[in-house]
Amino acid sequence: MSIDVYTRDIVKRYGFKFSKSLGQNFLIDNSVLEDILGSADVSSDDVVLEIGPGVGTLTRELLKKAKKVYAVEVDSTLIPILKEELKEFDNFELINKDILKLDIKEILKEENNVKVVANLPYYVTTPIVLQLLNEDLNFKSLTVMVQKEVGERMAADPGCKEYGSLSVLVQYYCDIEIIRKVSSSCFVPSPKVDSVVIKLSKCKNPRVTIKDKDLFFKIVRFSFNMRRKTLWNALKPLNIDKEELRKIFEICDIDPKRRGETLSLDEFGRLSDFIYDFI
Ligand code: SAM
Repeated sequence: MSIDVYTRDIVKRYGFKFSKSLGQNFLIDNSVLEDILGSADVSSDDVVLEIGPGVGTLTRELLKKAKKVYAVEVDSTLIPILKEELKEFDNFELINKDILKLDIKEILKEENNVKVVANLPYYVTTPIVLQLLNEDLNFKSLTVMVQKEVGERMAADPGCKEYGSLSVLVQYYCDIEIIRKVSSSCFVPSPKVDSVVIKLSKCKNPRVTIKDKDLFFKIVRFSFNMRRKTLWNALKPLNIDKEELRKIFEICDIDPKRRGETLSLDEFGRLSDFIYDFI
């Protein structure tokens, strides 16, 4: 059966009303579903964390492949639907919570080989990805549908207009691949924006070795907070003596007239380590 028919049938039978504010756009295109599953490459050894199962279209396919699926859904009206429709699976754990208020580390503490697979609610994509990356969770990969612009920002290279602190943060932890574009007609109801499926594969070690992660991200944030400013001006809030700052740029071999948006991860790392040594 096509997932268009499957999904619309469940929505109709239960009289489910879509909530725009919860980012409810359900997937109805089989080729997109197959590409998500193909790229996530879930096997019977894997544990999956799905965020926002909706009526369970993707969940059902994940349950057939994975050792266990944890699905976190904030909308209470979807819980009885999911319980009923997926009752034949004993490897399913449904959690009725807001993912941003959940202690994911605690829930997954006994699990290995965790893969995150989801068609994410767009209004909270960035906080969800940041939470998953920052909490140092032990996941192998994250295969998710996101708004096209957000996916492009995550994958952007230095010098592109899309390059920003989100690009640095994602690329610090992960290799990123844009799997495919997805048009708005692949969802019910159709969102106003296009989407992409992306895969983030967690690197064994972060891409750059740095002395102080908090300082590194602080410098990245300052550099992009004022994108149009030179590094010299953008880093003023660090309150470093002017002469010392001049020396730091000189030793790093980074021109202080450059803007943060032109710096590679390595350059941010170098700058951060020299600043660490000076302060
Ligand atoms: N997985 C389904 C699919 O592919 O058709 C539904 C995807 S829909 C884009 C996003 C889902 O995330 C909805 O079911 C929505 O209720 C849920 N959601 C929204 N905000 C959430 C949050 N903060 N925590 C957990 N789930 C959330």
